[in-house]
Amino acid sequence: MPGRLAGKTALVTAAGQGMGFACAMQMAAEGATVHATDRDPKLLDAFKGVPNVSTRPLDVLDDEAVRRTIDELPPLDVLFNCAGYVHHGSILDCTPKDWDFSMNLNVRAMYVAIQAAVPKMLAMHEKTGRWASIVNMASVAGSIKGLPNRFVYGTSKAAVIGLTKAVAADFVQKGIRCNAIAPGTVDTPSLADRINAFADPVEARRMFVARQPMGRLAKAEEIAPIVIFLASDESAFATGQVFSVDGGMTI
Ligand code: NAD
Repeated sequence: MPGRLAGKTALVTAAGQGMGFACAMQMAAEGATVHATDRDPKLLDAFKGVPNVSTRPLDVLDDEAVRRTIDELPPLDVLFNCAGYVHHGSILDCTPKDWDFSMNLNVRAMYVAIQAAVPKMLAMHEKTGRWASIVNMASVAGSIKGLPNRFVYGTSKAAVIGLTKAVAADFVQKGIRCNAIAPGTVDTPSLADRINAFADPVEARRMFVARQPMGRLAKAEEIAPIVIFLASDESAFATGQVFSVDGGMTI
């Protein structure tokens, strides 16, 4: 049976670990030709021998590299903008440098990648009638929920939702859908780093689990299916929406 993404070309940013990795793996298993990218080339070794996946290092803060990569690839059916960074702290802890870094990585990089991808997506739609799907990584933290010590993170992820709706509105009649996902707390390597940065990591993990009503964290593999759905034509009528997968955090 052909996979749900058979015949589609996908680009995933920050695919080296966590949700980007899980999504790239599930996209490939569903038959997409996946271009898995990450700032850290060593992490991309995890894709060695995986069918349908080719890898290339890509720092999404490097505008020229993002444009060159998208230019070199065939038109994208799927662009999954996953890269992002969690700054810990309130407004009092956020320096202008922290602000710029988070906004550049979490929001501006999406603008650059989408701007580079859209012309070829439009041309593909004109030529073939195919629709492209852009999926942006937002978070429960942001316009959905205010969380303590997530000042610039929440600000940036709220902006991702605005960006998503704006792009969706501009191309709703032109063959491009754009949606965002909003995960709750997901057990990924960077979450482990955030937990280990606390003086008492055991207590910190307990706190992260406590804010999840199901009493556990998500696995990255539990977030990937919503991205597969949004990438596939199964979600053909969905655009400009935010899909929360948060274990009940926002009930
Ligand atoms: P992670 O944070 O463990 O891994 C992130 C990956 O991004 C790494 O492979 C890293 O090398 C790569 N990366 C970092 N900077 C990059 C750059 N400039 N260019 C390209 N790649 C870069 O993975 P995760 O926790 O699954 O987070 C992925 C995304 O999901 C982020 O946008 C994050 O904000 C968001 N998110 C995470 C959670 C969570 O609880 N983990 C919840 C909601 C949203």
